[in-house]
Amino acid sequence: MIELKTAKELERMAEACKISALALKAAGESIEPGMSTKELDHIIEKKIRSYGAKPNFLGYGGFPGSACISLNDTVIHGIPSKDIIIHEGDIVSVDTGAFYNDYNGDNAYTFAVGEISSDARALLDATEQSLYEAIKVVKAGMRIGDIGFAVQSYVEARGYAVVRKYIGHGVGRNLHESPDVPNFGTPGRGVRLVAGMTLAIEPMVNARGEDVRVLRDGWTVKTASGSLSAHFEHTVAVTEQGAKILTLA
Ligand code: MG
Repeated sequence: MIELKTAKELERMAEACKISALALKAAGESIEPGMSTKELDHIIEKKIRSYGAKPNFLGYGGFPGSACISLNDTVIHGIPSKDIIIHEGDIVSVDTGAFYNDYNGDNAYTFAVGEISSDARALLDATEQSLYEAIKVVKAGMRIGDIGFAVQSYVEARGYAVVRKYIGHGVGRNLHESPDVPNFGTPGRGVRLVAGMTLAIEPMVNARGEDVRVLRDGWTVKTASGSLSAHFEHTVAVTEQGAKILTLA
C-alpha cells in the first residue's frame, strides 16, 4: 500500500527532510583530507541530534553508523570507520537521514575532496544531473517507469552504468516504503504517481559496468569493476504541478 500524505502531513515531513539536508550540508562543509569517515559520521550525528531529531539509519537493519559514507569505488552503505581515511582527490558519497515529527527524510550527495580527476568530475556531474532529469518528470499522472527512464537514458547516453541491484523507494513514516523507484525503466509503465506520494529518488551510477559486490561486513557495496561510483538523492513530494523537493537546506 502506498501511503499518501495530506498537506499538513507534508509540512511535518518537510521538517524531517530539511534536517536531513542540513546534516548533508554540514558533512560537505566538514570533509577534509586526513579525516576518518567515523569523524565525519560524528559531525553528521551531532547535527541531526541538535534539532531534536534522530539519525534514522543508525540501527536500521543493524547498520552501525548514523550516515552511510562511501568512498570512490564504494557505491553505497559504506560503514563509518576510524580506519577509513579521506584523501585529497577522493569522491565521498554521503547519505544522511533524519527521523523527526514521526517522519523520515533521506538524501545523498557525492562530494569532491579538493582536486579530483576530470573523469571523476564528469561522473559526478552526470549523476547529479540525472537526479534532476528524474525530478523534472515527477508529476501526478506520470509513472514510476518515467522516472527510471529519465535517469537511465541520461546516464547511459554518457557511457555510464546505472546500478540495478539497489533502487530508490517511497519514504514517509517508514524509511523504506512502497513504491520501489528503480533508476531504470520504460516510459509510461509502472505505478502511477499520485499527489501526496513521497519518494526518495536516488541514482547510483558506476563509471563502468552496473555490477556490484557486497563486502563481508554485509553492508559495503562496491563496484565489481573497481570503477568510481556516484550517488545523489532527494526526497520529493508528488504534486499536481510537479515535484516538490523536500530535502532542501
Ligand atoms: Mg534512500
